[in-house]
Amino acid sequence: MNNVIILGAPGSGKGTQGKILAGHLGIPQVSTGDLIRAAMKQGTPLGVKAKSFYDQGHLVPDEVIYGLIQEILDAPASREGVLMDGFPRTSPQAEAVDRLLKAKQAKVDRVILLEVDETELVKRLLARAAKEGRADDNATSVTQRLKVFQQQTAP
Ligand code: ADP
Repeated sequence: MNNVIILGAPGSGKGTQGKILAGHLGIPQVSTGDLIRAAMKQGTPLGVKAKSFYDQGHLVPDEVIYGLIQEILDAPASREGVLMDGFPRTSPQAEAVDRLLKAKQAKVDRVILLEVDETELVKRLLARAAKEGRADDNATSVTQRLKVFQQQTAP
């Protein structure tokens, strides 16, 4: 298996670089953010639960994410490994990933950290807001998401 985590602040390019890398490695790129956006769009129970957290730029509660992570790692498409984009994002989530992989006699093989200056991050996220209209790409949520990254993900 080839399990890779791509880490970085919002706007650092995890999605963009992750896609290229996953293509090279021949493994699926899985983004919890994308899965949450799809769930919200479809109005599933997970989507309904996630919405208020998501819109304000807060993390969706870990217990919502655990089920998602388990499903991802158990999916047939993940048997050769997976490129994780947007998770783990907290220490408990990181422990969950380790635990679930260990149960498959697998481990995290590589971790890539994308480091980008905060002024550049804000610039990119607000530019994306104008283009894609993501609900959490407004000035208030962007500030909140950068704070969440420093406080909850960076450690
Ligand atoms: P970005 O890195 O630009 O914030 P994402 O699509 O990775 O974009 O995440 C968007 C939002 O989705 C986060 O602000 C959070 O609300 C939610 N989210 C995504 N992944 C997780 C996760 N692993 N744990 C908790 N919340 C998450």
